[in-house]
Amino acid sequence: DALVVCDNVVRIYQTDTIEVQALQGLDLLVHEGELIALVGASGSGKSTLLNVLAGVDAPTAGRAEVAGHDLVGMSRSEQVHYRRHVVGFVRQQASLNLVPYLTASQVVDLPLTIAGVARRERRQRTAELLELLGVSHCADRRPVEMSGGEQQRVSIAVALANGPRLLLADEPTGELDSETAAEVFAALRTVNRELGATVVVVTHDAEVSGQVARTVAIRDGRTSSEVVRSQESEGA
Ligand code: ADP
Ligand code: ADP
Repeated sequence: DALVVCDNVVRIYQTDTIEVQALQGLDLLVHEGELIALVGASGSGKSTLLNVLAGVDAPTAGRAEVAGHDLVGMSRSEQVHYRRHVVGFVRQQASLNLVPYLTASQVVDLPLTIAGVARRERRQRTAELLELLGVSHCADRRPVEMSGGEQQRVSIAVALANGPRLLLADEPTGELDSETAAEVFAALRTVNRELGATVVVVTHDAEVSGQVARTVAIRDGRTSSEVVRSQESEGA
């Protein structure tokens, strides 16, 4: 089943002086349960595409749908629901995903509280996510007391709190050394496998993109070619 359908998506940024075509007729199909890597040069449109899929930026033209939600012309309230329940977003800088004065438990609890989840269920869900991501030992730590890899794994837990269908990660390993990056990437694979979440991750890291079943290359705002790699664990 298709979870993400992008058909001829155009996103134009208009400034006083210039017009930038960040996406110029991009097509993308992501099936439910896939983990794909998006690669491409700086300025090719990767962040723009992620922002479109995250529901924070709307296409100028074309069709974009995620889990049956039409991303073109969503109302305010649809947007709020979409961002809270359908997608999770992990940014490159862990500091933008976390809150300096909140512990890992508290920051994962936050989106659950906002969604009105009962206390007992929040506690259970928070503990389960920290465990799944291998950061239970960080439950009572604030970001400053965690390593970069731990911060990003907690960030993934926050993004997953409300059980999104699609997890988006914009260069989540961009600021990490290669060993820590591999650890964070392994966490994304665990999430994909154990929770069945569909994952789209932007990466510059060739090593990382070599670990996924499918790599999609973006060039000048379009999908340029799809490199399909077979992987024993995929069974496909
Ligand atoms: P990438 O993530 O692949 O580096 P981006 O999606 O950030 O690419 O950018 C694609 C193009 O769109 C670039 O030329 C960038 O400068 C431009 N762009 C992105 N966001 C904006 C914006 N808010 N206003 C104007 N231009 C933008
Ligand atoms: P990346 O690390 O993906 O290359 P960028 O530095 O291109 O990220 O973009 C970071 C943020 O700045 C994005 O949200 C993007 O939309 C915005 N942005 C990028 N280029 C421009 C621009 N020319 N004008 C305004 N905003 C931009």
